[in-house]
Amino acid sequence: MSALHKVLKQDIKLPSPPAIAVHILDAVRRDDSSFRDLGRIIASDPALSAKILRVANSTFYSPKYPVDTIEKAIALLGIDQLKNIALSFVIAQGMRGTAGEGFDFDYFWRRAVTAAVGAELVAQHLNCKTGDTFVSALLMDLGVMVMHFWDPGSYAQALSDKRASGERLAAVERRMFGFDHSELGAELLRSWGLPESIWQAVGKHHVCAAGSEAGRPAGDVLCLADALSSIYHGSRCSQRIAYVKERLARYGVEGEEVDALIDAVAEKTLEVLSSFDLAPGELRPFSQMLQEANEELGKLNLSYEQLVVELKQAKDKAERLARELGEANEKLRELAFRDGLTGLYNHRYFQDLLDQEMGRAVRYGRPLGLVLIDIDHFKAINDNHGHPVGDQVLKAIGVQFGALTRRTDVVARYGGEEFAIVLPETDAKGVMVLAQRLRRGIEQMQISTDAGPLTLTVSVGATSYEPGMGPRSKGELIDAADGALYASKRGGRNRVSLGTLSEV
Ligand code: GH3
Ligand code: MG
Ligand code: MG
Repeated sequence: MSALHKVLKQDIKLPSPPAIAVHILDAVRRDDSSFRDLGRIIASDPALSAKILRVANSTFYSPKYPVDTIEKAIALLGIDQLKNIALSFVIAQGMRGTAGEGFDFDYFWRRAVTAAVGAELVAQHLNCKTGDTFVSALLMDLGVMVMHFWDPGSYAQALSDKRASGERLAAVERRMFGFDHSELGAELLRSWGLPESIWQAVGKHHVCAAGSEAGRPAGDVLCLADALSSIYHGSRCSQRIAYVKERLARYGVEGEEVDALIDAVAEKTLEVLSSFDLAPGELRPFSQMLQEANEELGKLNLSYEQLVVELKQAKDKAERLARELGEANEKLRELAFRDGLTGLYNHRYFQDLLDQEMGRAVRYGRPLGLVLIDIDHFKAINDNHGHPVGDQVLKAIGVQFGALTRRTDVVARYGGEEFAIVLPETDAKGVMVLAQRLRRGIEQMQISTDAGPLTLTVSVGATSYEPGMGPRSKGELIDAADGALYASKRGGRNRVSLGTLSEV
């Protein structure tokens, strides 16, 4: 069993055909009365009749006399052709959902109608037009819609893989699902009871791209139609044009004839789209697009000197912007590391830095000091004077710590009213000297606040890593400082204690 049939058995539920399509197919299967039945079915749907008459009178068929009844349309187009046109309308109408289903139905059908028109025109050039040409091309990508609704997530992935790799969609689908949309579309149309000639053609519409059908006009029609539609709706327009030219040259269709064909695809599509109740979007003939592009280029008519001056200005501007961007990024990085109230480094930066410094101290056998400071009875300041005054005190103390330490020391706000100072290259003795300096510095400080001058004290816990202690972690160093801070609080506050890293 093929991969497609396995999946069909298990989890794809093929959509059913629109009801009126079933009637049309039934009518034409009964050969004897098909003519009358088909006429009746179409006439029972005024909108459908109107569309068919519009197409019959279009430049596609350029009738010598106005075609104003379905009977006349049958006489002009033949039963096969009429049946297919009617099917095209009812299927395109029935297989349209609401926006927001993650599928752009209008784009899908606009592209399909362009391909159908392209197929007719190519088939005319290659002398292999049949009553099936239009409808086969119109429905050749129906499998894409079914695959999308079967598994929207995976199918979106397939589409983005295709865009990223530049591979053909069918190749990506086969790799991901084991089958492609042409096989699935053919199976769908077979199950709906469309004629074999149509679903066979749909099933093979990618085969010629691989070259195996080369030289057989009928096999090339849908590939060329696909490419022609991509010129107007795809992203690789010039590649598709080159493909169309190369393919048509094999049949002796070359030069201006090809350009005219490409333009005619857009012109006739514009005429047909409204019959399908589709807006034309941006669609317009290729030569018109080229002309517009050239006019735009002409407007840029800058002299060489002007260009040089403008380039120089643009370069200066780019350099200035790059510099400003660099500075802004630097500021942002700083902000991410800074505490909003005091401007000191924040807790996260402190943790990262201590991690690095600890690693360095252990690796190179260097001393490293750490001091934790907690303001004494800070809660009372908030309680007595209010939170904003508490904030002013915290700021002032942060400034004071900065003034009392060396440039290589890093002062951070550890949390609420707690601070931490990392002291690279500083041993126990040095840490104690600094800790006492800090304690005294705060004790002697008059902090001016909105509530008048305030004084306060701090408790300090100090510790250090010493060369020869072997591998120790940042956590152990913090624990030692924290223990020492607790000892200072317990010992009566406004004091410094030294904690040593415990022996291992
Ligand atoms: P101790 O001497 O035991 O350290 O007493 P304390 O009052 O300083 O300690 P406690 O931990 O009980 O209270 C700390 C206070 O710090 C309580 C909290 O509201 C205040 N605080 C924390 N962060 C801020 C801040 O950003 N601004 C202000 N104004 N107050 C803060
Ligand atoms: Mg505290
Ligand atoms: Mg406190």
